[in-house]
Amino acid sequence: MASNTVSLAADAYLDDSASFKQFHLDSRLLQAIEKSGFHHPTLIQSHAIPLALQEKRDIIAKAATGSGKTLAYLIPVIQTILDYKKTQQDTEGEEEGEEGSTLGIIMVPTRELATQVSNVLGQMTLYCSNEIRSLNVSSQISNSVLNTLLSESPEIIVATPGKLVNLLEDNIKSISLKNLKFLVIDEVDLVLTFGYQDDLTKIAQFLPLKKNLQTFLMSATLNDDIQDLKKQFCRSPAILKFNDDEITKDQ
Ligand code: ADP
Ligand code: MG
Repeated sequence: MASNTVSLAADAYLDDSASFKQFHLDSRLLQAIEKSGFHHPTLIQSHAIPLALQEKRDIIAKAATGSGKTLAYLIPVIQTILDYKKTQQDTEGEEEGEEGSTLGIIMVPTRELATQVSNVLGQMTLYCSNEIRSLNVSSQISNSVLNTLLSESPEIIVATPGKLVNLLEDNIKSISLKNLKFLVIDEVDLVLTFGYQDDLTKIAQFLPLKKNLQTFLMSATLNDDIQDLKKQFCRSPAILKFNDDEITKDQ
């Protein structure tokens, strides 16, 4: 059954005139991108990355399956966490560390997608795996293994909303979201179709104030259902819509 289709359509969406170098990325991240064989960003990447990275905007993006949405959010997330870690190192000893708190949450509608995103995350953090550790809490591991891994305080958690809400409501002490910087909801249309709205509302109670959180809502299709989520999670998001070759930007 091919419910979990691997999409390799990104070639069709490449922004040939752009290069990943123009985003001023950490050399370890750039090296990982190059090792993956990516030379040019796709259109969604070349529009979303500077808005997220330089302008710190929240992003709502609608772009076809296979257009490269994963790196459109992962690159800004990884880069900002690397920057943050550097400032932490510089001030080490002067300020109280923020050891042990999650910096990014990536929510996806299915376990398969959680695995897929985790794999890309692993690829992109290949050269900075000490600074950025991630955990897929929706993978099939026992609770005791999960607790051990969570107690190591991974910087990024990948999860389906159902699993995340269970963990948060179970009061797992090792998940602290007080310093959370990023919230991604990938395939947000499916997240809603699968009935996760109530779980998202519960999760919202554990999050820091909206003004301290950068949010990415990504989807292949967008309809009005997203309005509630926009209000719930976003500040004043840049809305990027890619239809065929046409890009609509609402900034
Ligand atoms: P989407 O989430 O929009 O469906 P993905 O992020 O899964 O798309 O990307 C689709 C495919 O394109 C993946 O196989 C990915 O490795 C590849 N890809 C992503 N960005 C690029 C790029 N800049 N250049 C070439 N291939 C890319
Ligand atoms: Mg995707």
